[in-house]
Amino acid sequence: MNFQLPVLPYAKDALEPVIAAGTIEFHHGKHHQTYVTNLNNLIKGTTFENMSLEEIILKSDGAIFNNAAQVWNHTFYFYSFKKSTHPGVPKGALAGAIDAEWGSFENFKSEFSAASLSVFGSGWGWLVKDSAGKLSIVKESNAGNPLTKGLTPILTFDVWEHAYYLDYQNRRADYINALWTIVDWDAVSARY
Ligand code: MN
Repeated sequence: MNFQLPVLPYAKDALEPVIAAGTIEFHHGKHHQTYVTNLNNLIKGTTFENMSLEEIILKSDGAIFNNAAQVWNHTFYFYSFKKSTHPGVPKGALAGAIDAEWGSFENFKSEFSAASLSVFGSGWGWLVKDSAGKLSIVKESNAGNPLTKGLTPILTFDVWEHAYYLDYQNRRADYINALWTIVDWDAVSARY
């Protein structure tokens, strides 16, 4: 199988001023593309060659896992946002499940932001659900992906420095706060 860089569901400048077009150019056009290219080169001629991306993530380790998970994580991340100037709210069953777990959407946002802020070094903040539908917030380092723990990802914030340094330099908290403005709650709620 030859994996492809997914086309973004919005223009490069659609997420401004939260994420500048220049960041999208590097993050999607260079970083994400490199993970795709590396993965295709690494699996060529191996047992992973005809597996789905999810299967590779569950069955590989080392460089193949790192690149496969980074392809998946970035596609999931980029497909969590839309052009928006005002923060939205979760929809339908997800909204109820967030209230049940955290009491309110505002409490959930605070906890998710704090978890994402406190990832040491490169990694990801995740909202996930388990097989019973119970939500939780998990942190993953580097290419970590909750699929390997049997959890279903609902939302992720990329907190690798490459995700925010051009726009926010060292101010990871400002980047995380701003991301809430552009979350595509229709897309994210549908994952629940
Ligand atoms: Mn990234």
